[in-house]
Amino acid sequence: PAAPPADFYAEYAPAAPRPALPRGPLRLSCVVPAYNEEVNLPRFVPALAEAVGQLTADFEILIVNDGSRDGTHDVALHLVETSGLPLRYIALSRNFGKEAALSAGIDHARGNAVLLIDADFQHPLELLAQMHDLWLGGYDMVYGVIADRGAESGAKRMGTQLFYRIMNSGNAVKLPPNAGDFRWLDRKVADALKALPERHRFMKGLYAWVGFKTAALPFVPLDRAAGASSFNLRRLGSLALLGLTSFTTLPLRVWSVIGALVALAALLYGGWITVETLLFGSDLNGWPTLAASIMLFSGVQLMSIGILGEYIGRIYDEVKQRPSYLVARDEDRSPWRDESV
Ligand code: UDP
Ligand code: MG
Repeated sequence: PAAPPADFYAEYAPAAPRPALPRGPLRLSCVVPAYNEEVNLPRFVPALAEAVGQLTADFEILIVNDGSRDGTHDVALHLVETSGLPLRYIALSRNFGKEAALSAGIDHARGNAVLLIDADFQHPLELLAQMHDLWLGGYDMVYGVIADRGAESGAKRMGTQLFYRIMNSGNAVKLPPNAGDFRWLDRKVADALKALPERHRFMKGLYAWVGFKTAALPFVPLDRAAGASSFNLRRLGSLALLGLTSFTTLPLRVWSVIGALVALAALLYGGWITVETLLFGSDLNGWPTLAASIMLFSGVQLMSIGILGEYIGRIYDEVKQRPSYLVARDEDRSPWRDESV
């Protein structure tokens, strides 16, 4: 075969670094999910505006109140009315959870880039400049990766590890471990996320699923400024279950393997008993073995039915087609008020 033309590989190994993608001037939508953040918001929103102001004058901040039970509603309205900042306040009709609050923010964001950031100062504002640079350099999604989980309990760290291990075993879509919701999304990515129809949204999985050119930015989360984390063990557990049932079928398939192994063992054991009875006769032993194995395998069966149930429950939730959140109030003081997305 003829040798490829001289410039054949140029596409794969460009001689000069690629020029940055031509991005339009930055118009940034910042999405801030807030659940019981009455103490943090009045400090965080101006701090965010200040940090974003270093990158562009053209931005909006979307505060998504996820059904807070404290004074977050009044605090946010007060900010919208008196701060003079380009704010938009979206109140969900109840607490739908952080994943839904983020989806609501992404759905309403109008910029050509969308920043997702927590309201509790845990995501360092100093990283915004780097995120911006990476975006300008052609990355469509830049996400913060927690570099140090030192502050978390051993149990939480072990649980997290186990979760990523199961999630990423044999799954086509790999979740980068310890990547959170601190993200900079290009409009392309935001549109792709919006187009995904599922109601129960495990965002970490969806970010990975949509793909695009992504860059990771390690960071050490700061301490929560005020208040307490809303993610206790129970909520983390149900989030993990949501992730597993929406992104891997491994828990379902594992039972076929276990079933096959057990059947094989039973076959061998049955054969052995037959031979033994023929050779040595039978003296009716083995009742404890029988009782124990019945108990063991009914346990195994119940467990596998339970796992089926988890998936069927998820299907049931999806076919109901209820929206993932409802907006109770939308107060818009952003400069882009009359634009639609
Ligand atoms: N949050 C939310 N809805 C919830 C729980 C949390 O919008 O049901 C917001 C919360 O206000 C914060 C962010 O999600 O801005 C992260 O929550 P938190 O700090 O409680 O979680 P952690 O940092 O421990 O993961
Ligand atoms: Mg937090």
